[in-house]
Amino acid sequence: MATVMDGKRTSELVRERVSGEAAEFVSATGHTPGLVTILVGEDPASQVYVRSKGERTREVGMASFHEQLTATASQDEVESAVARWNADDRVDGILVQLPLPGDLDSKPVLELIDPSKDVDGFHPVSVGRLVANQPGLRPCTPLGVMELLHTYEIPVTGAEAVVVGRSDIVGKPVALLLLHESATVTITHSRTRDLAEVTRRADILVAAIGRPQMITGDMIKPGAAVVDVGINRTDAGLVGDVDYESASEVAGAITPVPGGVGPMTIAMLLSNTLEAARLRRA
Ligand code: NAP
Repeated sequence: MATVMDGKRTSELVRERVSGEAAEFVSATGHTPGLVTILVGEDPASQVYVRSKGERTREVGMASFHEQLTATASQDEVESAVARWNADDRVDGILVQLPLPGDLDSKPVLELIDPSKDVDGFHPVSVGRLVANQPGLRPCTPLGVMELLHTYEIPVTGAEAVVVGRSDIVGKPVALLLLHESATVTITHSRTRDLAEVTRRADILVAAIGRPQMITGDMIKPGAAVVDVGINRTDAGLVGDVDYESASEVAGAITPVPGGVGPMTIAMLLSNTLEAARLRRA
């Protein structure tokens, strides 16, 4: 049976590390790293995410701010909120909770965030720095995938890595992070011919598809590390993009859903906030 890569436990370790390093940062600089969440509208799921980001931020000894805008807020009002937090030195990280309601366009809002405060790593400047492997802020979920691989000592250098999915928030950035650690990376997508033939080559297989249990055991190389980014709500509950039952019989290591990549995302957001505070004062 495969080793379970436990995201709950690993995220606790990350938060312990961030908590210790944040305390050191505060005593060295006198500044408490701060994160602001901006929520537009009252979507219940978004409210839960934002609340838990605030709680986690305070737990690791960082400052948490929140700005609530009504669902009727104009594009200008949302952009002015971002501009205000850009200018506020108490804050090192700005997170605009997506999706934005109604006709609001998230692209200009995200592009307005000061790249030095871009803890989600979605700003074009952050993307460019990632592509060029320059210091900068990386997207949280892909960072969480790498943290799990490192924690479970999965060899990355020289490994065949296959990423299923090419989204800007998961597939592409995780492929670049793997590439920068010298994996041989293949990115697959809905137009890939014979997906199973490609995934069976993978020593590291990352699934970021959004299709319940699509990756089955017969698509996995024996002993591979399988990281399941998928979060799919089905009648049977929350499931990943990987069919855990058949996959865990073949894989050497595997992440569960829930309790795998999911908890890592907030932990890496906290890590990014500390990193932003450091980079902004370097
Ligand atoms: P997305 O933007 O919808 O991208 C999905 C990707 O999967 C696309 O590139 C698509 O290919 C590809 N794909 C779809 N059907 C496929 C098929 N049959 N064969 C091969 N590739 C296929 O999704 P996303 O935002 O990357 O998210 C992916 C999953 O991760 C979702 O379940 C999401 O909920 C989850 N997620 C989890 C976290 C977390 O914190 N754990 C964070 C973000 C996302 P094309 O480009 O050709 O359409």
